[in-house]
Amino acid sequence: MVRAVVGANWGDEGKGKITDMLAKEADIIVRFQGGANAGHTIINDYGRFALHTLPSGVFYDHTTSIIGNGVALNIPVLFQEIQSVVERGVPKPKILVSDRAQMVMSYHILMDTYEEERLAGKSFGSTKSGIAPFYSDKYAKIGFQVSELFDEELLKEKVTRVCEQKNVLLEHLYHKPLLKPEDLLKELLEYRRIVEPYVCDTSAYLYEAVKAGKNILLEGQLGSLKDPDHGIYPMVTSSSTLAAFGAIGAGIPPYEIKKIITVCKAYSSSVGGGAFVSEIFGEEADELRKRGGDKGEFGATTGRPRRMGWFDCVASRYGCRIQGTTDVAFTVLDVLGYLDEIPVCVGYEIDGEVTKEFPTTAKLERAKPLLQTLPGWKSDIRGIRKYEELPPNCRKYVEFVEEQLGFPITMISNGPGRDDIIYR
Ligand code: GDP
Repeated sequence: MVRAVVGANWGDEGKGKITDMLAKEADIIVRFQGGANAGHTIINDYGRFALHTLPSGVFYDHTTSIIGNGVALNIPVLFQEIQSVVERGVPKPKILVSDRAQMVMSYHILMDTYEEERLAGKSFGSTKSGIAPFYSDKYAKIGFQVSELFDEELLKEKVTRVCEQKNVLLEHLYHKPLLKPEDLLKELLEYRRIVEPYVCDTSAYLYEAVKAGKNILLEGQLGSLKDPDHGIYPMVTSSSTLAAFGAIGAGIPPYEIKKIITVCKAYSSSVGGGAFVSEIFGEEADELRKRGGDKGEFGATTGRPRRMGWFDCVASRYGCRIQGTTDVAFTVLDVLGYLDEIPVCVGYEIDGEVTKEFPTTAKLERAKPLLQTLPGWKSDIRGIRKYEELPPNCRKYVEFVEEQLGFPITMISNGPGRDDIIYR
């Protein structure tokens, strides 16, 4: 059976933890989109890890981790990550890299950095990992696919072509040093040396695995609202964050994805720019940020403080719907235990009218949150394993959110660890 673990919101919902937990019973975990621009924090028997490229299932020795064709593959980052987990006592992970994945090149990172510099105050809040330039090149058909590493003649011709194009921008737009074809060729040959043992026709591998009834997890990065089509364009990421894209980014039939587990955090956080209707500020935000996640809400890649907000029913209902949710995993509920009252955003007021539908970006910028306040439970719920044992006000919060979402909350995460989970 194939299951997808994806985010309903702006990312950082706790997908890493849910994937790590579900991976216990999985055979294969696949990353199908995104790159090293966002991180998953995972806490398990080996310690605390911030992964960027490795699937969150790498911590078991019975799983195979796949970097699917849809991923922005940063080879140095991937192999540093493998090394760093092995150094900390994790069994050497079994990794397969799709021969159709494309590679993030050093110039993608440079271009990303230069573009952020150029845009200055109007920037997209990029993590400068080269993701936007990478996907632009992929769709402009000048990217480098892993399979191409094994055709040196093709590479020689292509590096010249790429340099011609990039150097126009480097010279005239960014006023930066130019690229040399021989340096790019050297970079690519180095990537070949590193990646060669792992390269595989992963869609053929997955086809056989599906036929054999293996348990497969697709792990998404970021969340619905960062999807380039359905999110808060242009403050989005450059690859689709939706479970549907899992079929493409992994190379499996769409109808094989039987469960779509959408991870939704009990409050909101967001990184980068863009409208964030239920955002809170000042001391109220600082307090939630400090208490959030397992070590406060700070970016796993950048360390940037995340923007904070109350739970947003409008955004989350939309985020769940667009994912095609079968199950909601409601996470980080324990963090809210300090509040006397918990505001929840139940509607948007736009130009004097109230709506529960998530609008397109221009309207979203004008939306004001309509808040409803629920009573807090004022206690620590960590360690509880049965739904009935949660304080009544805590259950009320969960049931209120579930009704607003219109999708069943089947898992509640009440701590960062693998076992901090309540099944319903
Ligand atoms: P991801 O990108 O969706 O995997 O999310 P991140 O890993 O960036 O952020 C989730 C953060 O919340 C991490 O620091 C997790 O360790 C932490 N976390 C996940 N689930 C829970 C939970 O139920 N309770 C608490 N307190 N922390 C959690």
